Amino acid sequence: MTIWLRDTRSAEQYARALTYLPGGVNSPVRAMRAIGRDPLFVERGEGGELFDVDLNAYVDWVCSWGPLIHGHAHPEIVAAVTQAAGRGTTFGAPTAAEVDLAEEVSRRVPGVQMLRMTSSGTEASMSAIRLARAATARTKILKFAGAYHGHVDGLLADAGSGLATQGIPASPGVPAEVAATTVVVPWNDHEALVAATEEHELAAILAEPLPANMGLVPPAEGFLELLRERADESGALLVFDEVISGFRVARGGAQELFEVTPDLTIMGKVIGGGLPAAAYGGSRELMERIAPAGDVYQAGTLSGNPLAVAAGLATLALLDGQQPYADLAATTTALAEGLADAARAAGLQDDVQIVARTGLLTVFFSGAPVTGHAGAKGCDHGAYAAWCRGLLARGVYAPASQYEAWFPSLAHSPEQIERTVCAAAAAFAEIDR
Ligand SMILES: *Cc1c(COP(=O)(O)O)cnc(C)c1O
Repeated sequence: MTIWLRDTRSAEQYARALTYLPGGVNSPVRAMRAIGRDPLFVERGEGGELFDVDLNAYVDWVCSWGPLIHGHAHPEIVAAVTQAAGRGTTFGAPTAAEVDLAEEVSRRVPGVQMLRMTSSGTEASMSAIRLARAATARTKILKFAGAYHGHVDGLLADAGSGLATQGIPASPGVPAEVAATTVVVPWNDHEALVAATEEHELAAILAEPLPANMGLVPPAEGFLELLRERADESGALLVFDEVISGFRVARGGAQELFEVTPDLTIMGKVIGGGLPAAAYGGSRELMERIAPAGDVYQAGTLSGNPLAVAAGLATLALLDGQQPYADLAATTTALAEGLADAARAAGLQDDVQIVARTGLLTVFFSGAPVTGHAGAKGCDHGAYAAWCRGLLARGVYAPASQYEAWFPSLAHSPEQIERTVCAAAAAFAEIDR
């Protein structure tokens, strides 16, 4: 069955965009090339729903790739941002609200006593690495295949997210000398990790504790504990990139959920409530190496700016207590179970793996469980693309790449889950096997 959506205005905008923006977008995955269609041009969002410029409605499971844990245009977040804007958008001088946000974060996140704000997760991970190198007087960083830590030169090696989606192993423009400072190890591979930590003098072991940029691939039992142990024994710092998992999978992020505390934590997405904010933090002793308390330089014109801080504070206020996490877990489970039923109805139960944790989900088109980047690469990407196009044609916006996670939010309603499951069943039924 072919479904025709209105797309005249989107097509017009895309043609214009291709003239002025590389690939028509400001960040690669938005272009939807991996699923062989043109991008959505968005008019507005409301709760768990998005409307494109042709006024087609979509249940939005992308939610800006993670920041929107309360969905689009939550009234309290909009009010907080509007109020802050009326008092001035940036001062380049400290405000009380920045201290409030740092205090809120350190109350929640076990490994964070003190933090420094930046405007993007990329900046935060770049800065955390600089600090780890300064603190250890070592250079090399260990990262995992399929993990994404922003577009930091040295961290693009075997990265997930957009690089995996475009099939880019690293990136031209990264000096070989810089790439050589990165050691890449397969995720969940105990032996490879131990061997690498014995072979190299590492400044940091850097990990997404709940990787979500090769699809969602949870750590094997004991793997995060092993990271902690190897870091301690080898003198490296353990750095958790919780840009996605922070404030999402639990109040205190994956480090609270798995009870493994890193030396440094990278945060982003939810912390900015949909505005540009990110941060890195750790113990007072480590963080006081940062200028002007210490000698490690890092700065930012818009770091901790009042709008992003207001959005972050309002977002965290709405995440107070354990109830929001119980609600988000229930929404995620209902979605995961509905999608599993839909796959079963189409006879595809042995061909897809549905992986879900609170606020995160991936449907892998794979006959076997996915435990790392190799498994994610081995999925049937063509089938995923066809399914995803089928979802979009039925008003459901799922990530346009097998390597990205779905982001259930507190704004998604049972009706939106139901609409999604119906569309998923119909789209599964169209898949050729
Ligand atoms: C999105 C992301 C980043 C980069 O954050 P930006 O704000 O896009 O620079 C870093 N790490 C992880 C785990 C991410 O998902």
